[in-house]
Amino acid sequence: MKRFLPWVLLFLVLLAAIPVFLKMDGVGFAKFLGVLVVVSIVVALWFWRVQTRKLSPRNERVKLNVNDKYWMNENIPFYATLSKASKQIFEDRAGIFLADVTIREVGKEVPEKETCLYVASSAIIAFWGLPYWNYADLREVLVYPTNFDENNQLDTLGVVQGKVYHGGLMNNTMILSLPALIAGFQIGNDKKNVGVHEFAHLLDKSDGSIDGVPSILGMEDRKSWIALVESEIEQIRKGKSTVPDYAATNHSEFFAVLVEYYKECPKLLKIKHPELFEAMNKLFSTGH
Ligand SMILES: [Zn+2]
Repeated sequence: MKRFLPWVLLFLVLLAAIPVFLKMDGVGFAKFLGVLVVVSIVVALWFWRVQTRKLSPRNERVKLNVNDKYWMNENIPFYATLSKASKQIFEDRAGIFLADVTIREVGKEVPEKETCLYVASSAIIAFWGLPYWNYADLREVLVYPTNFDENNQLDTLGVVQGKVYHGGLMNNTMILSLPALIAGFQIGNDKKNVGVHEFAHLLDKSDGSIDGVPSILGMEDRKSWIALVESEIEQIRKGKSTVPDYAATNHSEFFAVLVEYYKECPKLLKIKHPELFEAMNKLFSTGH
């Protein structure tokens, strides 16, 4: 509203001036002022429209139709368990995501709707429970038909299933392997979902660095979080943890793996690792 204030003041002054000039027999000038007010209003409205467009998502929000919702109920276990009201929020967020991020399926002119819904769902699940997030300026998700190798070459035996970048030409790009992406949703409680994993890296990245410590943690929380991570990595190395081994790679992988675990099996995490569960719960209870 602040940006309208100068315009409102200008209109009021001009409008107030008209009767004054009319009284002073300045009919010609009053007419001129009247025209000026009308022209100013038109210019202000045009200006306002341009500004609003800049602030809103670049594309129109995609509306999920009844078939999409049915499909999600059948294929996205996280969505299927939500209440009706939460499903509506999930659908809205997915619609904004699909409007804002380009999804390209390598080898296809137009990506399959299902692929888009898998990608969008991964994003929404990873950020569920947080207020508005920008997915660390993600612009494009490339979906490969197979796994790939370290050089992003397609490789059916490749071990890489997903990747996000920090800096460089690919800074705004995520790569996902389609079979791995789908597999992540086939079993809803195996602590594994590569899409959610990669978006958890973006959540970590949203403070400018992928270091396993998300920005929304306060300084005190950061310290205790890092201590918690280090002691759990020790437990994983000793074979005494239910957190998947890959988490012991480094702090950022620990964070991404733990987000997968928390989103897929919160009850198990609560029983096996109450401190880690509490930390996740605190993190993901800051918004809707
Ligand atoms: Zn990772």
